[in-house]
This record gives sequence, C-alpha cells and structure tokens, in this order.
Amino acid sequence: MHYLRCITCGKRYEPTDIVYNCTCGSILEAVIDLNETQDVFDGNNPSVWKYQSFLPVTRRASLHEGGTPLYESQNLKGDFGYRRLYIKNEGENPTCSFKDRGMTVGVSKALELGMTKVACASTGNTSASLAAYSAHAALDCYVMIPSGKIALGKLAQAIIYGAKVIPINGNFDQALDAVMTASKAFGIYLLNSINPYRLEGQKTIAFEIYDQLGEVPDRIILPVGNAGNISAIWKGFKELKAAGITDSLPVMTGIQAAGSQPMVRMYKEGLDTLIPEKHPETIATAIRIGNPVSWLKAFNAVKESGGLMEAVTDEEILAAQRLLASTEGIFVEPASASSVAGMQKLLACGAIERDETTVLITTGHGLKDPNAVTESIKIMDPVDGDMNTLQRILGE
Ligand SMILES: *Cc1c(COP(=O)(O)O)cnc(C)c1O
Ligand SMILES: [Zn+2]
Repeated sequence: MHYLRCITCGKRYEPTDIVYNCTCGSILEAVIDLNETQDVFDGNNPSVWKYQSFLPVTRRASLHEGGTPLYESQNLKGDFGYRRLYIKNEGENPTCSFKDRGMTVGVSKALELGMTKVACASTGNTSASLAAYSAHAALDCYVMIPSGKIALGKLAQAIIYGAKVIPINGNFDQALDAVMTASKAFGIYLLNSINPYRLEGQKTIAFEIYDQLGEVPDRIILPVGNAGNISAIWKGFKELKAAGITDSLPVMTGIQAAGSQPMVRMYKEGLDTLIPEKHPETIATAIRIGNPVSWLKAFNAVKESGGLMEAVTDEEILAAQRLLASTEGIFVEPASASSVAGMQKLLACGAIERDETTVLITTGHGLKDPNAVTESIKIMDPVDGDMNTLQRILGE
C-alpha cells in the first residue's frame, strides 16, 4: 500500500483523498512500500508497467508507453571527448513525449477514483498526452493552453484525440491557475504534474536507464520547466537504492532557457525560495514556465544529488537541436535540445567532467514543433531539375 505525504510538513493523506496541495500550501508525494517491490531489472523489455510493483495504482490505462531507446552516442561523444555518452529519447513514446509515462499512471488513478472528467493546463505535450489517454479510457478531457503559444504538432494532437481545447489569455502560469480553479469547482480530476501520480509514472525513466545500462550513470542532464520530471527521475533513483537494488545515485543536472530560468536563479543566487519569472520567453515552449509548481522537489533533487543548474539561450538551443539531429540522427523539439546545449556549456566552463558516464534526456519529438526548424533554417531557392543545373549543384 502507499499513501501521500506533504513534502514540507509531512502531513499524511490517503490514496482515496482527491487532494493536490497540503493544507500548509505545499505539494504532495506518493510514499511507496518498498518492501513490496520486485527486482525485475534484467535488461529485458523495459516499459512503464514492467515496474508495476513500484507504482501506486491497480488499474491500467495503457498505450504501451516507455521502453524508449537509450542510444549510445556515436559521434557527439567524440566531438566532446566523452567515453560514454547516452541519449534517452523520450520522443519515442506513444504521443512522442515523456508525459505519456505520467499520464498512463495518472489516468489509471482517475479510473480507480471513479472520475469521469479530467483536465490539465499545458504548454502542449501534457495536453496531447492527456487527450490520448482520456480517449483510450473513455473520459471527458479538457485542456487549457496559453493562447497562441503552443507548437503546431501538439495542438493537432490535442484536437484529434477529441479533447475540449480551451485557449487561455496569458502564459502557462495563468492557464494552470484557471484549470486549478475549474477542477475544484466542477469535480474534474486535475492531471498536471502537481498531481503526484504523474510523477510516479515519470520516475520509470530512472528505472529504464538502470535496466538498459546495467548500472547507475554518473550524471543525468535534462530540461526543467515545471520541474516535475527532474523530481520524478531523482525519486526513481532514490527508490532503487532504498529498495537495495542499486548502491549509487546520479548527479542531477537541470537546464532551463535563458528567458525562463527561475530555478537557475534560485540555484545560482543561493535563494531558499523561488521567485517566479513573470514574463517567461523562449522558443523552447515546453519549458516556457515562470512559476514551476515542483520547484521545491526539484531544488531538493539538485541539492541532495550534488547537482547543478544552468541556463542556455535560444540560439544555443537551436544549434544543439541541429547538432544532435545531424550527428546522431535524433530529432528532438527545442526544449529537449537544451539538454545537449546545457552539456556543451557546462563542459566548456569546466563545471562537469567528460569522463563521467552521462545520460542526456531528450524529452519530446522534433516533429511536434516543425516551425522551430523551418523558420530558423532556410533551404535554397527552387531550381529546374535539368542536367545543367544539377551539374552546377552536384558536380565535383
Ligand atoms: C513537459 C516537458 C518538459 C519539462 O518537464 P517538467 O517536468 O515540466 O520540468 C521538457 N521538455 C518537454 C518536451 C516537455 O514536454
Ligand atoms: Zn504540509
């Protein structure tokens, strides 16, 4: 059995309580009975539900999420002098982002609770994923998105899976306020990452990395937006250790966009609370979040693991996106490329070491946001396909 616990005051809540915040205002985490978990880490067929003994749900709404490839870098690693550099490509999930890991568990929980309506605020991938899982589980789905600031592919996904799409004036933070109000008022189950069951699904990224690599890597580098995923992955590695399956922990390294870096500021300036960024701006829309809901969990993850946080510019993100695609054949959306850009930057300033076994998490597929490419990289003007022209272009 599991229960929910406030990460600040420790107050306990039961699995049947529909609650997102503690009465003290802080957020909750699921506490798993690790005595009931099974060591299934044999390297075969990783998937979210392979690790069911670590998951706090009994129902299962699944589209076969997880089991994403852990690529060993072929070319990038040499460019940067790494011996062992890996890319965990979460774009290869059913709706093409890691959000599916959280939604399979979150929607399963909604079914257990007997909820018929679910909702989220989203920069895009959360709504795409929730829309798909709601369709699968036959739930009514409402998604609130920042108007005009959502990548084309993600919007298309939310629409085609049949969600009610509600654009909200403002950015993600206003959309989240709206959906929290709506979920309380209308008995709708909220599936943003403030919901601790989402993070339970996402912690399986840690399980899969260990399962696929056969060891715990030295360092994990990933983008940070609402700060749920870095918290979830850290929780996964801590549970593996507490269950006696592993004996080491990775160093958590979080990357934000320069125009949206409240957590990086908190880390660099040594603050003990988060100061929200009022007007977050970045081409990496998935991490365009000024007031990350899981900031305290993420802050603890970075602190406990001896990790660090860094910010990268939009130019660095786009260059890294192109570099990853053209050297490894892995096309990711801009937010995901911030892992690569962050690695480059931290190596250059000597903050991280190239002899560490390092895993970059790429969080979402490049086709989610094709405009980020076509608007930043121009192709040549059209030509006639005659031999003379071809000779001019391709000869020599
Ligand atoms: C949601 C998302 C993130 C940010 O994850 P958080 O848990 O909000 O920190 C990064 N990249 C992509 C592609 C995402 O969809
Ligand atoms: Zn509390």
